[in-house]
Amino acid sequence: MLRRSIPTRTHTDQSGNYRAYRDPLKADFSNRCGYCDIHDEVLGVPFHIDHFAPLERFGELETDYSNLVYACPSCNRAKWNHWPMSTARPSHDNQRGFIDPCESEYDDHLERRTDGSIAGKTPLGAYISKRLKLQLRKHRFLWLLDRVMEQCEKVEVVLQSVDEDDPDIEELKKQHYELLRHYQAYHKIIRTKV
Ligand SMILES: [Zn+2]
Repeated sequence: MLRRSIPTRTHTDQSGNYRAYRDPLKADFSNRCGYCDIHDEVLGVPFHIDHFAPLERFGELETDYSNLVYACPSCNRAKWNHWPMSTARPSHDNQRGFIDPCESEYDDHLERRTDGSIAGKTPLGAYISKRLKLQLRKHRFLWLLDRVMEQCEKVEVVLQSVDEDDPDIEELKKQHYELLRHYQAYHKIIRTKV
């Protein structure tokens, strides 16, 4: 199991408009969707500000920073106004409902497998996965793209620190950068198709 890093909400300033929280929210979530963990640069489209307890039901939480989640459009749309509970908290009854991704409890119910797929580990995890459509192939695919990019960056660091005069290393560098260039061009196309 690959564990995500749990986001922490650090912003404290109050504002009359929740949209003003976009930048701090993005930073607090390390540019990642709170629900599916995909990086916003991998998806390449603006992310949404999700109201964890839906705005339509809990208007009093509109500008409450602790109720906001940085979310990709897919998770935000899938979640929409679904909320089986009658109150904002508790947010679930262990069978149905949602878990704030800033809580470590989130990982007790959902896990990212090494092949990139997201699985519910409990009935509540299965409920969340189904509601957020986390089983869709795109979540797996985008996560794998993200991992490839991360790996390429690590390889780049290693290649920069090795002997410049070694012809084998020189050839390896050439191949790496060429492959990376093609991959990045292709990446921009495929991420819009998933
Ligand atoms: Zn997402």
